[in-house]
Amino acid sequence: MPSKDTHEHNSHQSRLASVGQIAAGIAHEVRNPLTAVKGFLQLLQKQSPHTYLDIAQAELDNAITTLQNLLNISKADSEEEQPVKIHLCAELESLLNLFQDQIYRVTIEKKFEDAEVSITGKRNQLKKAFFNILKNAFEAIEGQGTIKIHHYIQDELVYVTISDTGVGIPKERIDLLGTPFYTTKSEGTGMGLAYVFSTIYQHNGRIEIESEEGKGTTFKFIFPMEMPMDKGVERMDLHYESDIDLQGFFDLNKQEFERYLLQEVVNLQEILDEIKTVGGIDLLANAHHLAALVIDNREPEVINFAQLEGKFWAQHSTLNIEVKLEWFQAFRRILWHFIYNFTRLSGSDYKMDDFFKMEYRINITLDIFLRHFFTSYTTFKDEMIKTHREMIDDLSVPLIPLTSSVFILPLLGTIDTHRAKAIQEKMLHQIETHKIRSLIIDMSGVVYLDTMVVQHLFKILHGVSYMGCTAIITGIRAEIANTMVNLGISLNDRIETKGTLQQALEELGLQITNT
Ligand code: ADP
Ligand code: MG
Repeated sequence: MPSKDTHEHNSHQSRLASVGQIAAGIAHEVRNPLTAVKGFLQLLQKQSPHTYLDIAQAELDNAITTLQNLLNISKADSEEEQPVKIHLCAELESLLNLFQDQIYRVTIEKKFEDAEVSITGKRNQLKKAFFNILKNAFEAIEGQGTIKIHHYIQDELVYVTISDTGVGIPKERIDLLGTPFYTTKSEGTGMGLAYVFSTIYQHNGRIEIESEEGKGTTFKFIFPMEMPMDKGVERMDLHYESDIDLQGFFDLNKQEFERYLLQEVVNLQEILDEIKTVGGIDLLANAHHLAALVIDNREPEVINFAQLEGKFWAQHSTLNIEVKLEWFQAFRRILWHFIYNFTRLSGSDYKMDDFFKMEYRINITLDIFLRHFFTSYTTFKDEMIKTHREMIDDLSVPLIPLTSSVFILPLLGTIDTHRAKAIQEKMLHQIETHKIRSLIIDMSGVVYLDTMVVQHLFKILHGVSYMGCTAIITGIRAEIANTMVNLGISLNDRIETKGTLQQALEELGLQITNT
C-alpha cells in the first residue's frame, strides 16, 4: 500500500530524474559546439602559439568534463545495455573490492540475507550507482568509522541499506540531494547522487534517506523483486558471432559463464575461495572443462574427469560434499541457460525432435558425471578411513626399544577386541624381527578391560613365551587382577608380573636415572 510518504518520495525522485534528463539534454547540445571550438583553438595554437590559448584550452577542457559528467547521468549509451537478472549481493561484494585501500580505517559490516533473490536491471548502471553511494559513504567518514550494508527481502521487495557513521546531512539539505551540481566537497562534482536517483528511478526503485548530523547517514534502496515463477529460462546478455557453434559460443562467453555461475552460488562465495586456497581446486576452470566435455559428448573423458574430481574432494576434508552438489546444480542451470541463449541468438529453430535428443544426451552425460564423481568420492573416502584406522591401530601399540633386546609396551586407554587383535599382530611380528628377549607390558594406563579381552591378552602372552620371550606385566590394577583370578588365568615361568615399571626395570638390571 503506497503511503503518502512514498508518493512524495516518488514525485521527488521523478522530479530529480527529469532535472537530470533536461540537464543532460542541454549538455548534449552545448558539448558539440564546444568540442568544435576546442578543435579550432588547437589549430590556432599550431599557427601562432600563445599562452592565452593554453589557458583557454584548459578552461574549455574543464567545461567539457563537466558537461560529460552531466551527460553521464542519463547517458544515452547505457540505454543500449540490456536488462538482465542481477544479484545485488554479488555486485555489492565486487564493488567493495574497489575500496580495499580504505579498510584499514573503515570497518565493513555485511549482512547479506536472501542473497539468492534477484532483480531485473541494467547491471553496469546499477553498479555505477552503488559505487557512488559507497564512495560517498567512505568520503563522509573522517578517520575511523563503519559502513553497514544490509540486503534482505520484505513483502516481496528487495531492500538494500547502506549506513555510514559519517558526518551526516543537515535536515534542510536532504531534499537537495540528487540535484545536479549540489556538492559540499571542495573537489566534488555533485553528479554522483543525481546519477543514483535517475538510475534507481529507471529501475522502478525507491530511495529513502535518513541522516543525523555528526552521527551518520542511511540510504535505503527498495526494488521490486524478480519473481522466480514467471522466468523459466533466462535471457542473458551474451556475446554472439554469426556461424559459431555451441562450443564457440561458450568460448566467447567464458567470462560471462563464470560470472553467472558465481552469482548462482553467491552464498558459497567464501567456501569457494577456501576451496581454491586450501584445496587448490579451481572450480571455475573445472566448470569450463566439464562444459566442453558435455557439449562435445565426450563420455569417456567425462568419466575420467569425474573420477579425478571425486578423488580430489575425498582427499580434502575441508571440501564439503554438499557444496559440491550445490555447485554442480548451479552449473547445470547455467549450462541450460546458455544453451537457451545460444539458440535464441543464433536464431536456430530446433525441431522438437532434435531438441529432445540434445536435451537427453546432455542430461545423461551430466548424470554420468555425477554418478562417477560420487562413486569415486565414496571409494576414496572409505579407503582413507581404512588407512586412518590402520594408522591409529599402529599408534595404539607403541613398542619402544630400551636396549637391543628389551622392549616396553605401555598400554593406554580402553582395550577392546579390535585393539587386542592389533596388539597381537604387531607384538608377535616385532618379537620375531627384533629378537626381543624381554617385553615389559605396562598396564597402569589401561582404563578398562573386559573379561573377553583379558582372556585374549593372556593367550597372546602365552604365544609370546613360546617364542622365547619373557613377558613382564607391570601395573596390573586391582580390578584387572580380580578378573584374572576369576578367570583362573595361570602364569607360566615366562610370564611374570611386577608391581611397578620401576621394579621390572631393576629386575632386568636397567636403571632409570632421575635428571
Ligand atoms: P559529490 O560526492 O561529488 O559531492 P554527490 O552527488 O555524490 O556529489 O553527493 C552530493 C552531496 O551529498 C555531497 O557533497 C555530500 O554533501 C552529500 N552526501 C552524499 N552522500 C552522503 C553521505 N553518505 N553522508 C553525508 N553526506 C553525503
Ligand atoms: Mg559522490
